[in-house]
Amino acid sequence: MGLFRIGKDGHTAELLWGYNDGGRFTSELPAHLMSHITRLKVDPDNHVVMHCHPTNLLAMTYVHDLDEKKFTHTLWEFSTECIVVFPDGVNVLPWMLCGTNEIGEATAKKMETSRLVVWAAHGIYGAGKDLDETFGLIETAEKAAEVYMKCAAVPQVNTIKDSELKELADFFKVTPREGYLNL
Ligand SMILES: [Zn+2]
Repeated sequence: MGLFRIGKDGHTAELLWGYNDGGRFTSELPAHLMSHITRLKVDPDNHVVMHCHPTNLLAMTYVHDLDEKKFTHTLWEFSTECIVVFPDGVNVLPWMLCGTNEIGEATAKKMETSRLVVWAAHGIYGAGKDLDETFGLIETAEKAAEVYMKCAAVPQVNTIKDSELKELADFFKVTPREGYLNL
């Protein structure tokens, strides 16, 4: 583990603590730093960018259409809290080579419109105001993905209707991503 800060010139990093046992920073540093730049422009309180490999979200990228509207709609549909916790939905990247500037740039671009960016067959990026809130954001999407994965192979007889998702959004005073509800 380690702690560093980007120098005032924007091109160098200053090690503040750690990495003294041969450890080094994540191979996904470009995606982290570019996502920080993007999210801070959207919301100055978004101090945290977290990357992890949640099992069910990862599984979902193998069996579900990667279209962002469809992917978001399924997550909203498979747990009542989802539309309230992430009304902007999730953005999705197709499989890309990780650890590169290209995936960093693509992730940062997706971060302009959502705090969650799914990497197909790899994992997810989440952004938020602190570690607790960001972990909770990712965990909410992961739980809906788990419910979806349990239901995907059996006939579905019930759902949360779009009119009910709208009711939720109105009650909790959040604005769902434009055009994502079919009303
Ligand atoms: Zn990863």
